Amino acid sequence: MARLHNLVNNDELKQRMLDSEEERTTLSFYQYHHIDNPELFRNQLYRRWNQLGVYGRIYIAKEGVNGQVSLPTANLDAFREDMYAIPWMNGIRLNIAVDDDGKSFYKLKIKVRKKIVADGLDDSSFDVTKRGKHLSAEEVNQLMEDPSTVVVDMRNHYESEVGYFEGAICPDVETFREALPIVEEMLEDKKDAPIIMYCTGGIRCEKASAYYLHKGFDKVYMIDGGIIEYARQCREKGLPIKYKGENFDFDERMGERIGEEVVSQCHQCGAASDTHVNCANDACHILFIQCEACAEKYHHCCSQTCSDFNELPEEQKEALRGQVEFNGTRFGKGRYKALKKDEPLIL
Ligand SMILES: [Zn+2]
Ligand SMILES: [Zn+2]
Repeated sequence: MARLHNLVNNDELKQRMLDSEEERTTLSFYQYHHIDNPELFRNQLYRRWNQLGVYGRIYIAKEGVNGQVSLPTANLDAFREDMYAIPWMNGIRLNIAVDDDGKSFYKLKIKVRKKIVADGLDDSSFDVTKRGKHLSAEEVNQLMEDPSTVVVDMRNHYESEVGYFEGAICPDVETFREALPIVEEMLEDKKDAPIIMYCTGGIRCEKASAYYLHKGFDKVYMIDGGIIEYARQCREKGLPIKYKGENFDFDERMGERIGEEVVSQCHQCGAASDTHVNCANDACHILFIQCEACAEKYHHCCSQTCSDFNELPEEQKEALRGQVEFNGTRFGKGRYKALKKDEPLIL
């Protein structure tokens, strides 16, 4: 019987990958689909894709599959063919990473989980595979011309703060789960209007659109592949880009500039800036927007308190930890005007 897990130790695997001259491609994919026996499906995939030299992590759940993998570029066609031979995966989009050396993974991990995305939803009430219609970039631009169209940003406040589609509803939330009922309320009288939803890569909208269809909204659309794919299609086809500012990528802690303009402000001084940073004081670590001048003034911290604290010797910091309140103690993610900035640390 073929092995279904890797038995060589991690260090050796990593070294093998780093030593290899083989050109690799990194890509991601997802698809919501009812899978009756995720365990069995996992084992089949492992056998097939291990043979193709696929590394990375793939989550399988009763609701579908979500993967980020790398594979020898020479096997890309064979991989696509193998994937598309599974009827419900046929034709799903493979998002190929552009600026990537293909060295991000060194073994294949396929895990069965409860969900393919941790979204905090108890979604037994609606069918995630009955989702809204996908729109190409061209269709998005067309439908946005219609004055009755409502555009909704399904991301969190710190994502939409640095970039959004003009006129979009951007809920002031920190989680996807929080956003669903709030947006529902905002759209109460728009049940018949065309609604376009978007998020970073499209996966959140798969679920959000299914949720709103279930809630009786009639014309629910989503941007196919999210902002990333929208921008790619616009550039490829020379279409006007209706997105302003940056597309924030939480994993990378930085944004990809899509629109020319900077639409957000430094949380400390209000100057135009869209640079997300974490407070340099580890006891605070709040995620916020900071301009270069404030980075210098506050030593990369979110406040004078944090800056003062960060200058203290380690033992003193250790003793004070838990006794001093920082911005990060009170807010998960920074909001403009919410940060306390200028109070010095009083001991
Ligand atoms: Zn500033
Ligand atoms: Zn701080």
